[in-house]
Amino acid sequence: MISIKSPREIDFLRQAGEITGKTHIYLQKFIKPGISTEKLDALAYAFIISEGATPSFLNYDGFPGSICVSINDEVVHGIPSSRILKEGDIVSIDIGACYHGYHGDSAWTYPVGKVSKEKEMLLYHTEKSLWEGLSQIKEGAYIGDIGNAVESYAVEHGLSVVKELVGHGVGSNIHEEPDVPNYGRKGMGIKLKKGMVIAVEPMLNLGTADVCILEDGWTIVTEDERESAHFEHTVLVTENGYEVLTKR
Ligand code: MG
Ligand code: MG
Repeated sequence: MISIKSPREIDFLRQAGEITGKTHIYLQKFIKPGISTEKLDALAYAFIISEGATPSFLNYDGFPGSICVSINDEVVHGIPSSRILKEGDIVSIDIGACYHGYHGDSAWTYPVGKVSKEKEMLLYHTEKSLWEGLSQIKEGAYIGDIGNAVESYAVEHGLSVVKELVGHGVGSNIHEEPDVPNYGRKGMGIKLKKGMVIAVEPMLNLGTADVCILEDGWTIVTEDERESAHFEHTVLVTENGYEVLTKR
């Protein structure tokens, strides 16, 4: 069932989203060559707790980190570790914060120091594809409109769309119905209603769209080991558009 959020629920989702966005802004200044991904995880944990929230991903299905940290060819669900960020890497940070039982979910891919032109373009266009998808959202639009816009934009710019992982509804569970794929046809899928809250999260690759999972049982990587980027916002569907809940 797809839930329509009450004003009270929207208020908590707005606060959870705000904490999620603030955690990104806080972490961003530490993303430099020489820092370990577990240090970023510890910083995020402390920050989220200090805001009166809890990290949504910690122990989710047994996930061991507070955030997901995915480097270069890692698409999503990278486990924080002693691995050190290097100049020229790109790093996707996925953050969820739970406030009074409601979640915010937002991912962003950051350059580590100076990165290649190619990686710069990947980040630029993946973020743009998120905004293209979001621009379709309003009461009466279809889920397929979002995916169609993301995919058309990606293809137009020579990037491939990961299809195994999709966006989702957000509420008192971090992953709720409906699925929000980054591909699709206009006018297809469920119709959006005001009061729905969804996470739109394109994952675009420089090379092949194919992905596989590492032996750790979590980390999703590209099959051809080329880079991947991930940008995500949680938004509220409104009568004439959308409101970004995970503002940064
Ligand atoms: Mg996320
Ligand atoms: Mg998500």
